[in-house]
Amino acid sequence: MDMQRTSLKVIDPAGNTTASAHATPAARPPVEPGTLRHAELVSGEFWRHIPAYKDVSEAQFLDHNWQAKNSVTRVDKLLAAIAGLVDDGFIKDAEEGFRRAPMSVRISPYMLALIDWRDPHKDPIRTQFLPLGSRLFADHPKLDLDSLHEQADAPVPGLTHRYPDKALFLPLDTCPVYCRFCTRSYAVGVDTEEVEKVSLKANEERWKLAYEYIRSRAELEDIVISGGDAYQLRASQLEEIGMTLLDMPNVRRMRFATKGPAVMPQKILTDEAWTDALTRVVERGRKLHKEVVLHTHFNHPNEITSITQAAMNKLFERGVFVRNQSVLQRGVNDSPETMTLLVKRLGHVNVHPYYVYVHDLVKGVEDLRTSVDTAIHIEKHVRGSTAGFNTPVFVVDAPGGGGKRDAHSYEHYDRETGISVYQAPSVKPGQFFMYFDPLHQLSTSAQRRWADPSEQAVMVAAALGRAKERAR
Ligand code: SF4
Repeated sequence: MDMQRTSLKVIDPAGNTTASAHATPAARPPVEPGTLRHAELVSGEFWRHIPAYKDVSEAQFLDHNWQAKNSVTRVDKLLAAIAGLVDDGFIKDAEEGFRRAPMSVRISPYMLALIDWRDPHKDPIRTQFLPLGSRLFADHPKLDLDSLHEQADAPVPGLTHRYPDKALFLPLDTCPVYCRFCTRSYAVGVDTEEVEKVSLKANEERWKLAYEYIRSRAELEDIVISGGDAYQLRASQLEEIGMTLLDMPNVRRMRFATKGPAVMPQKILTDEAWTDALTRVVERGRKLHKEVVLHTHFNHPNEITSITQAAMNKLFERGVFVRNQSVLQRGVNDSPETMTLLVKRLGHVNVHPYYVYVHDLVKGVEDLRTSVDTAIHIEKHVRGSTAGFNTPVFVVDAPGGGGKRDAHSYEHYDRETGISVYQAPSVKPGQFFMYFDPLHQLSTSAQRRWADPSEQAVMVAAALGRAKERAR
């Protein structure tokens, strides 16, 4: 094959083929190394600009116990940690946000130190973890607390069996941090003024019921161990769960899901017992020809630092494969530039970008949601920026239990009313699932229609009718 000359067709803006020619393709111009932003990671003692951490040594900051012990859960502790960095307006806003938040608040010193406190209202890490009263919008009228119907699809408490060959096991309900946007806010964290949580505490009797169910279903080959967060499992618990599942002949794959690498990478570096337990499960899985991987959850490129890289290097050296699932959030990562930078930075530290979720319908975080249209727009820009295997799939986790659907694969999408309708023939044949774009991104006339319950029914019926006409 002639690699130097390529046959080209020239197509004018009207779509007419006007000429064909042979041309020598130009080599891509070289890129200045200094412009490769994805490879530039925050390093050094960046935490010392936070008043509360100004005397914290590197050894202390890398200690996972110190990170956990000093995580902030109350607004007074937050304000004490950042005293002098923010103005009174921010303080009042944060106090109101904590009071009205449906989700518990917990943020690690590592995350707090990565926030740009010169502009906390806009900072993408602050936006994800610290609620502000001024940013709380009314929930969408179609919102339901367990929008993914995980409890309805649970044959035993804390085990969701929705997909034919996969189950989601929730061994506990605590996390190293609490994210405002958590899909599982119906169970994760402690009760708040707004929400009384379903209890899924670590309990070996409950785990035995889950094991019995998994063992009894030959079709279950793939188990996700989430929570809560697998980071919160003691090393012995993580190993017991991993080895018990590996012993089941039907189980072929498992993933430990944890936000830990994104919010407290220190644990991988300094909690030797936990990292060794994970490594042993992965190594035994490999000997049995079963896949055991870690799934994590980075949302913004600022969350990836030289500490993250050291932690990911340690896992990579031990043969622990890490995949990432992001949530698309307004003001955090809802631009092609930010998402592309995130995807490339993840690849740079050997984390495989797997999914980007259109934000679920979650109580109290309407300010964070974006539309299906935004996801499709961003995906178009991300695709092609790096290798295909490192390009995430943009999905809608269909409310009502339809599971993950490629964002493009709707049967019908009305950008005016913000209703998209999906089918999931391999998950729940014959059913239709609707996703609703956030109201504040719709036109004023559409918002007016959503304020009227009889109009809501008309819009939903119209969207369903169109989807049914098109469905195959
Ligand atoms: S770490 Fe995961 S489970 Fe825990 S609060 Fe965040 S999103 Fe929810």
